[in-house]
Amino acid sequence: MWETDLAEFIIQLDHDAPSHIVTAMIHKNRAAVGRAFMRELGVPYTEDPEALTRIAREFLRDKYRRSDLGVSGANFLLAEDGSIVLCTNEGNGRFCTTAPRVHIALAGIEKLVATREHLAVLLKLLARTSTAQPLTCYTNLITGPRRADEHDGPEQLHIILLDNGRTGILADATFRQALRCIRCGACLNVCPVYRNVGGHAYGSVYSGPIGAVITPLLRGLQNYGDLPQASSLCGACGDACPVKIDLPGLLIELRHRQVQRRLVGRGERLLMWLYAWALKRPWAYRAGQAVQRLVLRVVADRDGYVRRWPAGPSKKWLVARDLPAPSRQSFTASWSEQAR
Ligand code: SF4
Repeated sequence: MWETDLAEFIIQLDHDAPSHIVTAMIHKNRAAVGRAFMRELGVPYTEDPEALTRIAREFLRDKYRRSDLGVSGANFLLAEDGSIVLCTNEGNGRFCTTAPRVHIALAGIEKLVATREHLAVLLKLLARTSTAQPLTCYTNLITGPRRADEHDGPEQLHIILLDNGRTGILADATFRQALRCIRCGACLNVCPVYRNVGGHAYGSVYSGPIGAVITPLLRGLQNYGDLPQASSLCGACGDACPVKIDLPGLLIELRHRQVQRRLVGRGERLLMWLYAWALKRPWAYRAGQAVQRLVLRVVADRDGYVRRWPAGPSKKWLVARDLPAPSRQSFTASWSEQAR
């Protein structure tokens, strides 16, 4: 089985995984592509984008011609007339769905759109927010297999509607809105966490804020408990989303459910209880801050960074990071001093 989207093809050749839902190989440069092509396809090394594209094109065209089966996804499925809607910028969707004898389209049930009027709006939204185009270069509406008087197209077309946990999400009045996602990638592009950690850190093909919401819903909150925490809740994702999914609100709700279902460890629960207790008693909060400041300043190196801790989660955390020691005075203390 060969991927035909250029980025996905390169990732497949390089035994890698996608890191963005639109630009799958945003983490690679052309030198990495050149090395992968040289190693896996036996071609001379080049970094020239045109030459690299030509190599991929020649390789894939041969596969299209000789394949019996083409498998595609669908950006949308049109309920009005049963069309499969495919949006690509490379034309690979057309080859893959017309050259082989059989075409199978596999799509989640959330891709269903009622009418052409609705589709027109969504096509514009998708292109504008994902790649800032008025429309994607190739927007295909496939309405069935080849007819008797046609030269192109498959003999058979099969559509597989995938549930895989989606009806469970649909039944949940709070999380239902996550199924509106059109996979434009805008929430990833603006997310400060995604931009720092990259897509692979999310452990799923869905990365960024929507990945942090949808992956625990599809694969179990108990298995992906870290993802709802992987957000600063700055709200940029919610502002960028063209279909108005309240991503920050859903991340907070997932955190609530972790607590309700007791998926949070005893140590963390105790810590949060203590924190809440101290927040209600300013003297306790200030005393805790003072102790923390003193300890961190004592263990910090001369350059003002804490790099070691004897045990526990802090020890692990500091293996890969340096923590700046707190200043001599707290922010509130220096603020009130200035205000005087
Ligand atoms: S959640 Fe919104 S912004 Fe993020 S990919 Fe989906 S539609 Fe785009």
